[in-house]
Amino acid sequence: TVPPFRPCLVEELYLLLEQLGSGHFGVVRRCQERSSGVFYAAKCVKVRKRKGSRLGVDREQVEREVSILQRLEHPCIMRLHDTFTSKTEVVLILELIHGGELFDFIAEKELLTEAEAIEFLQQILQGVAYMHSARIAHFDLKPENIMLFQKDVPNPRIKIIDFGLAQKLEEGATFKSLCGTPQYIAPEVINYEALSCATDMWSIGVITYILLSGMSPFQGETDSETLSNIVSGSYEFEDKYFSQTSELAKEFIRQLLVKEPGSRMTAPECLVHPWIKPLSRKQAVNRSRSSINMKNFRRFNARRKWKLSYNMVSACNRLCRLKLLCYQKKEDESLSAIARVTKKTAPAALRLCCAGREAAA
Ligand code: ATP
Repeated sequence: TVPPFRPCLVEELYLLLEQLGSGHFGVVRRCQERSSGVFYAAKCVKVRKRKGSRLGVDREQVEREVSILQRLEHPCIMRLHDTFTSKTEVVLILELIHGGELFDFIAEKELLTEAEAIEFLQQILQGVAYMHSARIAHFDLKPENIMLFQKDVPNPRIKIIDFGLAQKLEEGATFKSLCGTPQYIAPEVINYEALSCATDMWSIGVITYILLSGMSPFQGETDSETLSNIVSGSYEFEDKYFSQTSELAKEFIRQLLVKEPGSRMTAPECLVHPWIKPLSRKQAVNRSRSSINMKNFRRFNARRKWKLSYNMVSACNRLCRLKLLCYQKKEDESLSAIARVTKKTAPAALRLCCAGREAAA
């Protein structure tokens, strides 16, 4: 069990080391527990001083992330070890994840069969099925949030990270929000309808589609075009990109990219779908003969990384212009600083992210 928020300084018990990543909340740094010598990741979240203040995250929101992580204990979900709080900051001490993002790992491969891709997908589904059984929805499943615990091992284990938008869904209560990342959000998010665990299953459909083809099913020229493609449910399996894909894989995706949330496959249903768990030798052989479109996948991944860095740089420049990030307007300095720190880079500015209450206001 995770001890309650410690009111002391994190530095008293942990040695803070280099930066591992950053997000809209602040930074993640490698750290070492002084008493045990064990390494962890410290997610340092600046909390908002006043309501309505531009910088930082609402304390309530960080506390929700902590309380959700406290409930979750599964090999495919990043574990929370310790938490610290002060007036200005909350620090989450997390299990250290060494293997980087799953998509980067895959992009380095020469070839990946569907059967090998399914090994990863199965782990994602196991983690998601577990959290859904506790009525916890992640609401931000996307490639950046699926990492590998270690990559130089025979069967790498995936870890789902970033529970910043996750919610414990209360029985009988309706939850609405406009949170998420355009490419991966379900139609009910855009339509501001009730969200549920099925909302995550849509995102898994999108991730699977991309994984197999290197194409994003609803991607438009602009975010608003993407959102309108999602709402109209217009996507197809273009032969050009899906020539190496099995029919069963397409059928699996079709059962996730369903507009009506109640008709989507659930995570436990996915785990027994014949594409994931073949019923016959023929189905099993088919999966090993079909492969993912590596050439296009690598292209997708390179573009994704480039966009994340570009977004981060332009978001930081905007903050510089607003004098929120740096006091002197030395854009080139800020750019090189960002280039150094940028690993994980999607800015809050480009995420569709306003709480339901704000949207209603
Ligand atoms: P976003 O802005 O996309 O919402 P976030 O602000 O919620 O992200 P996280 O996704 O939790 O932040 O973390 C940001 C980055 O820090 C991750 O993409 C990853 O690169 C790194 N990171 C997070 N947790 C860990 C960990 N436990 N071990 C190693 N690196 C981590």
